[in-house]
Amino acid sequence: MSVEKCPLFSEKLELHMVEVGNGLRPNAGNFCKFCFNPVELASNKNKKCEICKKNITKNNTVKSVPDEIFAILREVRKIERTYVISFAFLGIFLSLFTGFLIIFNTTFLFANEILGTIILFAYLLITGRLFANIFGGIIGDQLGYKKGRSRLELRWSEWKDNNN
Ligand SMILES: [Zn+2]
Repeated sequence: MSVEKCPLFSEKLELHMVEVGNGLRPNAGNFCKFCFNPVELASNKNKKCEICKKNITKNNTVKSVPDEIFAILREVRKIERTYVISFAFLGIFLSLFTGFLIIFNTTFLFANEILGTIILFAYLLITGRLFANIFGGIIGDQLGYKKGRSRLELRWSEWKDNNN
């Protein structure tokens, strides 16, 4: 296991991979052999990779990003998405749950069906979106990022163990 921090994915590398995935560009070019950050060979002569700081020479570059690296990006993004969506649904569930709780526990609203229904719908309309945004967009987003990041570190150390 390497203690080196995972240098994936630089903005440039991710842009490259997303565009390759969308068929907008071929998976070809010059990439740092260690972190796959796209590099300009001519301008980077005897320079260090801006991401992993390793020396860039012709021997230290590869011509394409390996499939395994694409698989890691997909896996990490899927984890992040799953957390955002799951927590958004949790928010919607909480909106429904609290909405019905309020109606059933408010004698006046429970006795007035029409008014109770209108207020319940208004409540769901406002809090449904609000809770989904808070739970999905803030909590799910941060948790998903953390979980995705730790999976990324794990896959990266596995990749390094297998390729060094
Ligand atoms: Zn690099």
